[in-house]
Amino acid sequence: MITLALSKGRIFDDSLPLLRAAGVEVLDDPEKSRKLILATSRPDLRVVMVRASDVPTYVQHGGADLGVAGLDVLLEHAAAEGGDGLYRPLDLRIARCRMSVAAREDFDYAAAVRQGARIRVATKYTHCARQHFAAKGVHVDLIKLYGSMELAPLTGLADAIVDLVSTGSTLKANQLLEVERIMDISARLVVNPAALKLNREAMRGLIDAFEAAVGGSGA
Ligand code: ATP
Ligand code: MG
Repeated sequence: MITLALSKGRIFDDSLPLLRAAGVEVLDDPEKSRKLILATSRPDLRVVMVRASDVPTYVQHGGADLGVAGLDVLLEHAAAEGGDGLYRPLDLRIARCRMSVAAREDFDYAAAVRQGARIRVATKYTHCARQHFAAKGVHVDLIKLYGSMELAPLTGLADAIVDLVSTGSTLKANQLLEVERIMDISARLVVNPAALKLNREAMRGLIDAFEAAVGGSGA
């Protein structure tokens, strides 16, 4: 049995067409069912529904053989663990967005950087943020948050945030401006190396099918 870890929402929704192209139907809808283990049309493949940030943990420790997670989640996880030993064979080109710095419209980020001021930055992505600002020589005090980063500059908790942006409409709705792009983000297939070794033929077949699905999707 091969176990694939997915998370509810955009990762699951965007993975479905790839799975379908790989000849796999998921036999339950996680939005309607309370089941956490979903059968598929392939008797040797099941899907487990976990929180987005838990996907790398499941795959790393063998709770799942492979999984789909955003590059943001993978980089933060790997930095927190000091490496995670996961294979990342494939950019699935889904759940695409970018990691950016955003600030209030009335905060002059460029001037603060020029003056070498200490900038208070709120983010869920403390490892990526620390690395980004260190590489640029920008002085920051990082404030760790777990959600709704947009609120931090509006309440005076921080001067700026590091968050994911896709259309920019959430930033706009909260009078925030994207002032710096850090990196492009997309979801990746991650694989447990031991699982690949133990069950090479079936795992390889599935990874190849994913690869063909990505190539064939025109994405
Ligand atoms: P959690 O359940 O831990 O809160 P999450 O909020 O990160 O997880 P989702 O909102 O479903 O879960 O996001 C899953 C992934 O989708 C992110 O890790 C990211 O890679 C990607 N993504 C794409 N566009 C966006 C966006 N606009 N905002 C947030 N994530 C995005
Ligand atoms: Mg979310």
